[in-house]
Amino acid sequence: MDRVRVPWAGTHTAAPPRLHGTHRYDVAVIGAGLTGLSTAVELLELDPGLRVVVLEADHVAAGASGRGTGLLGPRIGPALSVARRRYGDDVARASYLWSVAAVRHVLGLVQRHRISCDLTPGTQLVVAREEKAAGEQRREADAAAALGLPVGLVGQDELPAVAAGYRGGLRYPGAATLDPAALTAQLARIGEQRGLTVFERSPVRGIRRGLLTTLSTNDGAIVADHVVVAVNALGTAAVASAGVLGLRVQAGVTEKLPSEALAALDGLRTEPLIEHGELSPYFRLTPDGRIVVGGGAARRGPHGSLAPVPSLLRDAVRALSPVLADVEIESSWAGPVGMTRDGLPVVGGDRGDPGLHHAAGCNGHGLAISAYHGAHLARRIVDGNRDDLSFALPWMRPKAPWMPRGRLVDRVLDRYLAHLTAEAGRPYAPGNHA
Ligand SMILES: Cc1cc2nc3c(=O)[nH]c(=O)nc-3n(C[C@H](O)[C@H](O)[C@H](O)COP(=O)(O)OP(=O)(O)OC[C@H]3O[C@@H](n4cnc5c(N)ncnc54)[C@H](O)[C@@H]3O)c2cc1C
Repeated sequence: MDRVRVPWAGTHTAAPPRLHGTHRYDVAVIGAGLTGLSTAVELLELDPGLRVVVLEADHVAAGASGRGTGLLGPRIGPALSVARRRYGDDVARASYLWSVAAVRHVLGLVQRHRISCDLTPGTQLVVAREEKAAGEQRREADAAAALGLPVGLVGQDELPAVAAGYRGGLRYPGAATLDPAALTAQLARIGEQRGLTVFERSPVRGIRRGLLTTLSTNDGAIVADHVVVAVNALGTAAVASAGVLGLRVQAGVTEKLPSEALAALDGLRTEPLIEHGELSPYFRLTPDGRIVVGGGAARRGPHGSLAPVPSLLRDAVRALSPVLADVEIESSWAGPVGMTRDGLPVVGGDRGDPGLHHAAGCNGHGLAISAYHGAHLARRIVDGNRDDLSFALPWMRPKAPWMPRGRLVDRVLDRYLAHLTAEAGRPYAPGNHA
């Protein structure tokens, strides 16, 4: 994958070697994103004597982890109202609380390892643009209240100035923003300080199972007791998480905002704005005074670095406030997300092989979840999860629900994504909306 111009500082500078020859490890992790590296770091925290290796096809943070927009917040899978119907109240509540714990886990990681990643604690505000969305938000607030979860409905007249014109919102406490590339790169460094080996430019081409598992790359092989597949949506037929569909979504960053605009938008520093709905735009402010914006367009297939419709990012930012009427997008990019049919991730092990583990399918909301999955997989490997009840959560499973594949499905998906993109691009100026 080519390097993209993201606004993040994080790079992994050790320039580790490519894998040559055959080596023996206790645990081999495939993929140096947040999932893979947090698994490795957690493993070495739980058992410093373990020999752990990470094999990365490209470079550390080459995938979604280096290209995300850095919104760290609760929520997992479908809306609470849907989760209640589908899984019952206990599981719906436990799932949300698990996602709250995932955020806390990342905050704890950052604090414990003194990771410098511009962590800014705050809340998230999901806003409704139209009456239909506002109705869905009222139902979501009712579901949260029934489950005793602290999700607050925000009336139109209570919205902050930057969200003036939206019809209302939902406020999620216990969130933060950070630089996801810095977090990922520093996890690699922390792992290496504890004895982790990272081989970059070493794509795994095949997995051979046996008493031990053998991973083969172009120039070498790793033999390991445990293998963790953490390739997000970037897998191949040989190395993948079953049932995960790869899309690429876009994001961008503006030029530095003038002081007048910064003063008007200061609330975005601690409370990013997320428009309710598929592919709808979302906004946050970086510490150096730029807006990071995501949404608007997605394409089938996880590969490729170019934002499919960057003009939508510019239009979304300009529509947010009159003070942004002339702002330019300085760079834009695309990155992979792994989607599943039920909107939930897939984490766990292979039923027939106790040495094979995987985590993927965060449906574009994986910053906290991926890191927490790493902790879960590490515990699973080290102590077999004996004192852990997380197996009761619906995304702890050997594979995601079956996804239809084929040319016809691709055509339907392309049309659906084009429709969502057209919807997201409808002219609208929330700041001017009475
Ligand atoms: C544009 C964008 C914005 C996002 N914004 C947010 C956000 O604000 N908040 C949020 O919660 N989530 C966000 N996400 C989602 C979040 O970034 C991901 O869920 C998370 O980073 C996934 O981490 P990962 O380690 O599973 O995957 P990745 O970071 O994609 O890592 C997978 C790694 O596996 C490697 N790999 C693949 N195949 C092989 C192989 N055969 N051999 C070796 N290595 C291999 C890849 O090169 C890659 O480095 C965003 C995603 C994108 C694309």
